[in-house]
Amino acid sequence: MSAPAVSERVLPTLNVDGSRNWIRPKPAIGPWWRRRRIVAYLLMVVFFAIPQITVRGLPAVLLDIPRRQFTILGTTFIPTDTLLLMLLLGSCLIAIFLFSALFGRVWCGWACPQTVYMEFLFRPFERLLEGGRSGSALLDRDRKRFHPRRLLKYAVYLVLSLFLAHTFLAYFVGVRALEQWVRLSPYQHPTPFIVMAVTTTLIFLDFAWFREQTCLIACPYGRWQSALLDSQSTIVAYDFTRGEPRMRGMANRAAGAGDCIECGACVLTCPTGIDIRDGLQMECIHCTQCMDACDAIMAKVGQPTGLIRYASRDTLAGRPKQLLRPRVVVYPAAFTLFFGGFLFALETREAADITILRSGSVPFMLEADSSVTNQVRVKIANRSRTDHRYVIMVLGVDGGRVIAPESPLAVPAGAQRTTSVFVVLPRSAFPDGQHNITVHITDGDDFTGDFPFNLLGPSGRNGATP
Ligand code: SF4
Ligand code: SF4
Repeated sequence: MSAPAVSERVLPTLNVDGSRNWIRPKPAIGPWWRRRRIVAYLLMVVFFAIPQITVRGLPAVLLDIPRRQFTILGTTFIPTDTLLLMLLLGSCLIAIFLFSALFGRVWCGWACPQTVYMEFLFRPFERLLEGGRSGSALLDRDRKRFHPRRLLKYAVYLVLSLFLAHTFLAYFVGVRALEQWVRLSPYQHPTPFIVMAVTTTLIFLDFAWFREQTCLIACPYGRWQSALLDSQSTIVAYDFTRGEPRMRGMANRAAGAGDCIECGACVLTCPTGIDIRDGLQMECIHCTQCMDACDAIMAKVGQPTGLIRYASRDTLAGRPKQLLRPRVVVYPAAFTLFFGGFLFALETREAADITILRSGSVPFMLEADSSVTNQVRVKIANRSRTDHRYVIMVLGVDGGRVIAPESPLAVPAGAQRTTSVFVVLPRSAFPDGQHNITVHITDGDDFTGDFPFNLLGPSGRNGATP
């Protein structure tokens, strides 16, 4: 059955009949590619090194999701640090907005792990093992999924995926836990084994099968592009004025023909399979491959390079560069506000976070001797880098007594614990059904704090029990 005739543009990774169009870009080895390769290998080293680095005795980055603790550059954020985390995330988001407004999608082309690993780790192995672009295309055409060369490629991909999965998970569990995971048998440690197997499989499928579709379909950043960029943003752009009207080849060029010789090198090298000459597109990851490809062609035909280059849409249209424009003013101002707020909150935050809670079951208990017992729950989060023992005292209990079975309460650095304190008071201490106390907590070193709290009891007038 023949494919239906369609006029709409489909994704570059799809044929019009819906089948997969495998993109096998031809590498254009030029100055931009060499610069990107240096950046890519540096980033890979940084990615592998970060989990091994410690700052002030703590991991440089540890995102402990089960314990809801995030350690970044020697500072641990606990669940009650919501404001700090919100300010930090807000700062990152604004920084992305600012960076995109100034330099377009430079992150996608130069630093995104998907691009870095695909273009400088997985794809080079593919070319090596499958006999280059034409070798891969031959295997695609003949549907030779189980050809030895392709199977060998998948075996190498699997090893790379295993390595990446281990490094990736080290950010979440730490290198020590990871070492244990690796040493113990899957029977002794089934959950970590399953986590590792699933992560490896996902990474393998991403680079072996899903590939550039991650950028085209799954990643939201490309879709934000139209909102994040303006006509002054620097992008990888084709110079229409110079290139059009394009004319194939160099022989018999008509007068007035543009510099584009329709060689197709820019399309052939594009890892997302698009034609940069169609203008700014969501699929363009600004990888600069078409710049290198076109520059090489221009050099060959004796034309100046830069037909495809880093430029803004305004520059290409002959309009002047505007250094001051709304988003270049608003974004830095917002970033200063958020990041300044984050640094201030970080510097002024207490060494411990205390939460005083009422008992979850009954507000108070009326004893046989008419005294009233309140259970007060005290949650202490130790934000410091050393273990502490917190002494819990209750002030304002004249004529009563306090039972604090776990005072002092030992809380390791970065951890949080909850204990109960029982306050027993005569019924007469609750003339309005309430009695104010102060919970005094100190570690005798970094932290001392007083926390007012309101105990409940039977109403003085009617003596109603709960
Ligand atoms: S590589 Fe340059 S000359 Fe060749 S088709 Fe692309 S834009 Fe035109
Ligand atoms: S159009 Fe050029 S810059 Fe954009 S993804 Fe393709 S090769 Fe990279």
